[in-house]
Amino acid sequence: MERLIEKTNAYRIVAGDLKRGTLSHAYLVVCPDADRLAEYARALAKLIQCEEGRGCGECRACRLIDKNAYSDCTVYPEGDKILASDVDDLLSRSVVKPLENKTRLFLLVGAESMTASAQNKLLKTLEEPPANVCMILAAVSDYNLLPTVKSRVKRVEIPPFGEKELFDGLKEKFTDEERLRRAISLSGGLEGKVEKYYLGEDADRNLALCRQILGEMKRSSDVIRFSGKIDQTNVRDFIAAMRAETSKLLKELVRGKPSALCEGFTTGALLAISDRLSAAEKSLNFNANVQMTVDSVLFGIVEEKHKWQKS
Ligand SMILES: [Zn+2]
Repeated sequence: MERLIEKTNAYRIVAGDLKRGTLSHAYLVVCPDADRLAEYARALAKLIQCEEGRGCGECRACRLIDKNAYSDCTVYPEGDKILASDVDDLLSRSVVKPLENKTRLFLLVGAESMTASAQNKLLKTLEEPPANVCMILAAVSDYNLLPTVKSRVKRVEIPPFGEKELFDGLKEKFTDEERLRRAISLSGGLEGKVEKYYLGEDADRNLALCRQILGEMKRSSDVIRFSGKIDQTNVRDFIAAMRAETSKLLKELVRGKPSALCEGFTTGALLAISDRLSAAEKSLNFNANVQMTVDSVLFGIVEEKHKWQKS
C-alpha cells in the first residue's frame, strides 16, 4: 500500500532529514490527492516514529499509528474539519514531553481547511516550537494558508504520479490489468482516484456517455440533449472520462489506426478539446457554475470539430 508514497521526493526528503538528525519542527505536505492525504501523512508519521527507523509497518509504533493509538502521534481533525479547538488541544499536548519516543508528532490532515484564527493560534507553536515536537500539515493545496504559516514550515510536495508508476505500484492490489489501465487513464495521476474508478461503475457509465457525445453530437442544437444526461454532482468525473476518451482517439489517429469514433475529428481538434477540458477543470476549482461549465465543454467539442474540418 505504501510503496507509491515511498518513491516520492517528499518521503525521501523526510527520510534524509531523519537520518541526518535534522528533522524539521514542521512540514507542509502539499498533495492534490484528497482521498489519500491522511494515509500519506500517516506513512510519514510511521517513517519518523518507526522502531526500525524505516516505516516498517510492523513494529509496535507503526502498528499503533495505523490504529490511531500511538501516544506520540496525534491526528487532527477528529471530525471532518480542523477546528480552533483542535489547535488548542495540540498546543496543550505539545508542551508535554514525548511519552515513548524521541519525537512528539502531530498530524493536521486537510490543513487547508483551517480558519485564519486557527492558523494564527498555531503560529505561536510554529515560531517557537517546543523541543522534540514535529508537526505535519497535510494539505491538498496551500492556497488558503497564511503566508506567515507557510514561511515557518518546510514545504514538500507529492505531485500526481505518472501512469507507469501507478501501474507498477498498484498492479498487485488491482489485478484486472485492463481495468486498472483504464482507471489510471481517468485518474489524473491520483492514487485515490485510481481506486475509485477501478472499483466504481460510474466510470463505465461516464465513458459510454462520452463515446455517445463524441459520436452523435453534431451541432450546437444537440448540446442541450446531452447536457441533461451529465451528472451535475460529479462533473469532474465526466470531464476525466472525456479526457480519457479524447486521448484514446488522439492515440488512434497518431498511430494511423482510427476507430469509427474518430470520424470528423482531426488531431488538432482533439488537442484543442483537451485544452478546453483543462480550462473547464480549472474553472471548477474556482467554483464556476457547473451547468455553464458543462455546456461550454459540449459547445467547445462541436466548435473545435467544425473549425478543424474547415481548415
Ligand atoms: Zn516500524
